[in-house]
Amino acid sequence: MANSPRPSSIAGGCLCGGIRYTISFTPDMDWPATKNATCQCTRCRKFTGGLVPQLLSVPTANIQPPLSSQQTYKAFQTPENPTGHRMFCSNCGSSVAYVNTNRAHETEIYLGSLDEEVLCGRKGGRKETEWGVWHERSGGLGMEICKTQRHIWIENAIPGITDGMEGRKWLQEPPEGKPFEDCDLAELKAKLVN
Ligand SMILES: [Zn+2]
Ligand SMILES: [Zn+2]
Repeated sequence: MANSPRPSSIAGGCLCGGIRYTISFTPDMDWPATKNATCQCTRCRKFTGGLVPQLLSVPTANIQPPLSSQQTYKAFQTPENPTGHRMFCSNCGSSVAYVNTNRAHETEIYLGSLDEEVLCGRKGGRKETEWGVWHERSGGLGMEICKTQRHIWIENAIPGITDGMEGRKWLQEPPEGKPFEDCDLAELKAKLVN
């Protein structure tokens, strides 16, 4: 499937609209996006309520207006990770981004906060079928933005449910340990035991 051309920008925000952002997709950013990863650390899970949150790293300066300038913006830090700021909307609770203040020039956006039109495309004609209703879609960039070959905190994966994704997997977070591929967590454990 051919890739869609690089967009000049993409938009997202929280569920209530209190936080809205635009990310300029400047030429220094890979297209299709490569700086993305799924993260199954317990902090991302608790923060988002999702089993397999996914983040895209973008230059902080490319996010406008700055997330911290927005009225309902709030950040949460865990005691064990005080430089990790998890950014969310204080009105609706949506998880929006993660920033490590040691690398504040990069912001990791939780991909689920991107707008539906960005991820899936704009809804067009409605079709009734025997399987239910579906809409034609145009312009979605989910394939280019969300296709990742990097998966971290696989140590926390649920065998048979969240450990079978294609690509390099780390038990914790790079650079600790080396990644494994072509097997899931249960298969890796079986190799280690034998
Ligand atoms: Zn909100
Ligand atoms: Zn995480």
